[in-house]
Amino acid sequence: MPEQKCRAVYHKSDMKSAPFKFCQECGAVINAKLKPKEDCSKYHTLRKSKGYKYCPDCGAALQKQ
Ligand SMILES: [Zn+2]
Ligand SMILES: [Zn+2]
Repeated sequence: MPEQKCRAVYHKSDMKSAPFKFCQECGAVINAKLKPKEDCSKYHTLRKSKGYKYCPDCGAALQKQ
């Protein structure tokens, strides 16, 4: 697994309970305790328009290049 330097706030050590399972910037798991939401795909378009690179629920790459 490649180590990525991501500046998203979710990776900070003082954030012990991240609100999302996956980092929306790098796609890394930030809170493995959360269960993925099965219906998150309907938000993918909205999240993509917000500039999310990855879905915070399922980790899918939203910005395909
Ligand atoms: Zn990240
Ligand atoms: Zn998703």
